[in-house]
Amino acid sequence: MNIRIPTAKTLRCDVLVCGAGCAGIAAALAAARQGASTILVERAPFAGGIMTCVGLPFLDGIADSVSGKLITTGIPRELATKLGLCPPNAKTIYDFDPACVYWPHKTAYIRNIERLKALLDRELLAARVRILYHTTACEASVQHGHIRHVLIANKDGLTAIRPHHVVDATGDADIAHFAGARTELTPPVQPMTLHFRIGNVRNWTKASELAARRECRRALREGALRVFYGPGFSFCFAPNEAYVHAVRVPGNAADAADLTRAEIQGRADALAMFDRWQKRIPAFKHSYFITSGPYIGVRETRRIVGRYVLTAADILAQRHFDDAIATGAWYLDMHSNKATAGAAAKEPPVYPGPYDIPYRALLPKRLDNLLVAGRCLSATQRAASSARVTATAMALGEAAGTAAALSARAKCAAPNLPITRLHAALRRRHAAPASFS
Ligand SMILES: Cc1cc2nc3c(=O)[nH]c(=O)nc-3n(C[C@H](O)[C@H](O)[C@H](O)COP(=O)(O)OP(=O)(O)OC[C@H]3O[C@@H](n4cnc5c(N)ncnc54)[C@H](O)[C@@H]3O)c2cc1C
Repeated sequence: MNIRIPTAKTLRCDVLVCGAGCAGIAAALAAARQGASTILVERAPFAGGIMTCVGLPFLDGIADSVSGKLITTGIPRELATKLGLCPPNAKTIYDFDPACVYWPHKTAYIRNIERLKALLDRELLAARVRILYHTTACEASVQHGHIRHVLIANKDGLTAIRPHHVVDATGDADIAHFAGARTELTPPVQPMTLHFRIGNVRNWTKASELAARRECRRALREGALRVFYGPGFSFCFAPNEAYVHAVRVPGNAADAADLTRAEIQGRADALAMFDRWQKRIPAFKHSYFITSGPYIGVRETRRIVGRYVLTAADILAQRHFDDAIATGAWYLDMHSNKATAGAAAKEPPVYPGPYDIPYRALLPKRLDNLLVAGRCLSATQRAASSARVTATAMALGEAAGTAAALSARAKCAAPNLPITRLHAALRRRHAAPASFS
C-alpha cells in the first residue's frame, strides 16, 4: 500500500515497537539494550498490556506448569526479580514465595499492579526507550515489501515514524494488517472478559463460591445475563478482596464498534453479578465494587499467517525447531462462547511439556522489516491458546526486539538474520529457548 502521510512531522528510529503489553515491553527493552534507538508507542497511559490494562497478575508460562521448572529466564524472570518475587537466579517456581504456586497449575503472580506500572516506566527509561503513551499506531505505508512509515495519532496530531524495523506487539496484528500482510481471524474467536475486583468480602467459604455460581445460573435463566464462566474468585491482592473472572462477552475486538459494545456489555454484566451477590450471599453483604478493567480483556483477534504456522500438533509433540527462539509451556487454553459454570472450559486442560516456538512464526510473509510478537503470532487458533499467555508473550517479545535490533545493525532483512547470531544474543541475556540454552 502506498499512502500519502498527511503530517509534517517525521521521527526516525532503528526499532519501532507498537504496543507496550507483555510482548511489547520485552521487545522494547531487548531492542534498546542491544543499542538500537527504540520508540515504543502505546494507546494506554501506561505499559503492561493485559497486566495493567485489564489488571491480570498471572505470569503464566514462566514455568513448566507441571514440574515448576522455570522456562522463561530472560525478561520475565528479571521483572519477577525486580518486583521482589524471586531471586535473580531462580530456577524453579519454588524459588518464589510458596504463595506464588497459586492455581493448580504452577505459576507466579504479581501482588501489586500499580508497582508494575512504575517498574516498567523505570526500566524503559533506564534502557533509553523513547516512550509515547496515549499514542495509537493507526496506519502503515509499504514500498517493495518494506514498511516505510508507521503513522501514529496522539495529542500532537498525526506523526509519521520511519523505522528500520518494526515489532508489532499490538495483540491484534494491527501493523501487519495495515501493511497488508496476510492475517487470519478464526470465527468464533474466544470471548472477551472484563475482570473486576470486590472489596470487603467477609468469611469467604466454598459455600460462598457455590452460591455465586448459583446466582449466575439463575441470572442466565432469567435473561439478566447471556453468558458467564466460573465464576472464579482469587484473593491474590488482599485476603478480603475478590478478583473475579466471570464476565464473558462474545465479539470481535478488531472491530471498533463491536469492541465498544463489548465494553458496555461487560460493565453491565459485572455490576449485574455484583448486585445479585451482594443482595443474596452473606460474604458479599458489606462488600463494595472497587473497579473493573480499565479495558475489557481480549483473548483473540487476528493472527498473522507467517513463514511458519505453529500448530497444536507441534506443541503436543514438543516438536524441535532449529530456529526456536522461545519456549512455551502453558496448556491449550480455549475459552468457549457458551456459559461454563464452575470452570473456564468444558474440557479438562491438555498439558504439553515445554515446546519450541520458531522464529519464522514471528515473520509475516512478503515484508522484510516487520516482526510480530505476542498473541498475534503465526499459529493456529488452538496453538495460540497456549502460546498467548503472559510470560510466553514476553519471551516472544524479547526475541523479536533482539532480532529487530540485530537486523537494524546489520542492515539486513529480518528473515535473513542468521539464527546463530540471534541465539547467541539471547543466550547472553539468559533468554535462549530451553532447547538451545
Ligand atoms: C480476560 C483474559 C484473561 C487472561 N488470563 C490469563 C492468565 O490468567 N494468565 C496468562 O498468562 N494469560 C492470560 N491471558 C492471555 C494473555 O494475557 C494475553 O494473551 C497476553 O497479554 C498477550 O500479550 P500481548 O503482548 O500479545 O498483548 P497485550 O498484553 O494485550 O498487549 C497489547 C498492547 O498493545 C496495545 N495496543 C493495541 N493496539 C495498539 C495500537 N494500534 N497502537 C498502540 N498500542 C496498541 C494495547 O493497549 C496493549 O497494551 C488472558 C487474556 C484475557 C483477555
